[in-house]
Amino acid sequence: MALYQQQELKIYNSISGEKEVFKPINEGAVGMYVCGPTVYSNVHLGNCRTFISFDLVFRYLKHLGYKVRYVRNITDAGHLENDADSGEDRIAKKARLEQIEPMEVVQRYTVDFHNILQKFNNLPPSIEPTATGHIVEQIEIIKEILEKGYAYEANGSVYFDVLKFNESHDYGKLSGRKLEDMIPNTRELTAQSDKKNPQDFALWKKAEPQHIMRWPSPWSDGFPGWHLECTVMSSKYLGEEFDIHGGGMDLKFPHHECEIAQGEAATGKTPVHYWMHANMLTLNGKKMAKSTGNNILPNEIFTGDNPNLEKGFAPTVARFFMLQANYRSILDFSNEAMLASEKGFNRLMDAYHALGNLPTGKTSDFDVAEWRQKCYDAMNDDFNSPILIAQLFEAVKQINIIKEEKSSITAEDLELLKKTMSDFIFEVLGLVDNAEAADNDFGKKLGGTVELLIKLRAEARANKDFATSDKIRDELIELGIQLKDGKDGTTFTID
Ligand code: AMP
Ligand code: ZN
Repeated sequence: MALYQQQELKIYNSISGEKEVFKPINEGAVGMYVCGPTVYSNVHLGNCRTFISFDLVFRYLKHLGYKVRYVRNITDAGHLENDADSGEDRIAKKARLEQIEPMEVVQRYTVDFHNILQKFNNLPPSIEPTATGHIVEQIEIIKEILEKGYAYEANGSVYFDVLKFNESHDYGKLSGRKLEDMIPNTRELTAQSDKKNPQDFALWKKAEPQHIMRWPSPWSDGFPGWHLECTVMSSKYLGEEFDIHGGGMDLKFPHHECEIAQGEAATGKTPVHYWMHANMLTLNGKKMAKSTGNNILPNEIFTGDNPNLEKGFAPTVARFFMLQANYRSILDFSNEAMLASEKGFNRLMDAYHALGNLPTGKTSDFDVAEWRQKCYDAMNDDFNSPILIAQLFEAVKQINIIKEEKSSITAEDLELLKKTMSDFIFEVLGLVDNAEAADNDFGKKLGGTVELLIKLRAEARANKDFATSDKIRDELIELGIQLKDGKDGTTFTID
């Protein structure tokens, strides 16, 4: 029996405002789509928080035994300044300022994004499609929406007709907004004279002569609207209806509201069953954002090279800091909070390492099975990582008491404790054992150093400098490292 059959997972669905029992469309399989980054600059720590939040979701679903298809896009076209329907494309603007090709901008920041997420030990998604790779599909879906009468063409651009859609559907159901309350934005109105109504949004935009990122379409040489790419890529890889759609809280409106409208207009089906929104990371009480400069870059955390920080922190400590908050709560970043997280993380790891040589007895004072279920209960309650971490610290307390032989545990319970700690710390929370990582890293360095000495010894022998070659061999033996000369060269073993 798969774990998901034994555990009842509840997910807070942003569209209902309630925690709902999770039931995927296809038993045992989950389709999840998360809005990816717009790759026009380095990801900041706030962006990372959202992707770490969904990495936790991905990891837990996998841990429960679901076969998960996780699609996270790369926005490499169509996302204009100010999230609006006019203005310069963010990528094109960066390309113009740096005097490079837009695709060089995309490449540079996609690589940065991947490197940083890997440092945080995020698992890669199953599919990572790009907007520019799906222009044809975007054109096709625009045709469908036009055919159904929910969009209109104006001067080579195509707009979604929000008022028309709202006659038979509920535009605003995700964000809780009412169409009549959406006060027209006059600044937008003047720039958007092609629109029938200011609430309408672009599905296709005719490119101005200076707009370099452009593709041919039945309406004009232009580019797709930002909201459309996610509708196209989610439905292409997950189906017209799929299980989970996630993104940062700031994407709820208009981005996700528009995705629902596009999906419903094109297919008549409601595309998403569970909407999940991750909350913001703040710095000095304000949202971290690329545009305002109020942000910290992940590399600055690792090196400590930022005026907000006293010192550097390991990526896993930063991850632990973020997982100590619920993904739906706002989290404020500070040096003090990071120091506290580092302390907590080290305490957790020390206890985990102590598990290796705990004394066992005939009886257990610690009900491990019951505690294990509490760990699951925490995660089943809408991925409540801070409660899970509190449970892990409950185990830390017990481990320390057992270590001092003031309490006992059976060998069988100890095995279950070890497995559960390892499952939740590494597999589910995705934390990394720094001691082990250092060991591995150290091992690599040591291996490289011995190889270097083998080379120097071979050179000494070739020069008939036997005093040096023997010295290298003998002193390595004293250090517990044996060299063995064979016909394929010299190998070594370490005691
Ligand atoms: P962007 O590259 O701006 O499209 O953002 C990528 C993702 O990061 C989106 O899901 C945003 O909602 C999310 N995001 C942006 N700023 C923050 C923040 N300060 N805290 C958490 N997530 C954020
Ligand atoms: Zn999106």
